[in-house]
Amino acid sequence: MNKYLHIQQEAYEANMQLPKLGLVLFTFGNVSAVDRSLGVFAIKPSGVPYEDLSPEKMVIVDFDGNTVFGSLRPSSDTKTHAVLYKHWEKIGGIVHTHSTYATAWAQAQRDIPIFGTTHADHNTVNIPCAPPMSDEMIKGNYEYETGFQIMNYFKEKQLDYQEVEMVLVGNHAPFTWGKNAAKAVYNSAVLESVAQMALLTEQINPKAPLLKPALIQKHYERKHGPDSYYGQ
Ligand SMILES: [Zn+2]
Repeated sequence: MNKYLHIQQEAYEANMQLPKLGLVLFTFGNVSAVDRSLGVFAIKPSGVPYEDLSPEKMVIVDFDGNTVFGSLRPSSDTKTHAVLYKHWEKIGGIVHTHSTYATAWAQAQRDIPIFGTTHADHNTVNIPCAPPMSDEMIKGNYEYETGFQIMNYFKEKQLDYQEVEMVLVGNHAPFTWGKNAAKAVYNSAVLESVAQMALLTEQINPKAPLLKPALIQKHYERKHGPDSYYGQ
């Protein structure tokens, strides 16, 4: 009996959403799903086309990035996932894509400004863009250091990873997370949409003002506050 099948299934289903949502090309992108009681996560294997994936092909890895179950090599970004799971103990799923619009902001090394209520429904702040990594970090244990680049930036900006479930890594691309893999994928799709809208907003009006604080507060509380009334 394979005791990891539940997270393999969760990771598989979440990975298969990425091409459906238009967030990835070819074998790009990866999703993982964690089991905290077992201290492992399931992640997409490296370089396998989405149509060839199956739950059993998801690789089981511990929080130090060691493969503990599975015959395929895990995603090349596995160590970034491992670092984030190890240090951010409330995360249940992580997604990495090179989705076009979010990646364009990462390449431009800019936070995504909070221009509208779509953004405010999910985040009350600009979506953070961590600076490009130092040469030392890049030449060293690159994927491992990418996790630290994200965490260090959250610390520096005093952001709470349970409040802001997405980040851009400068020159690279977005990472998102959530309470499970499905929520992390949802956040990835929301981020891509918000990134596209923000770009169009600046094209239409380069001086577009940020969302008023009253609207930020209102929309955030509709979904997250003690008196939230959005959804069922
Ligand atoms: Zn990448």
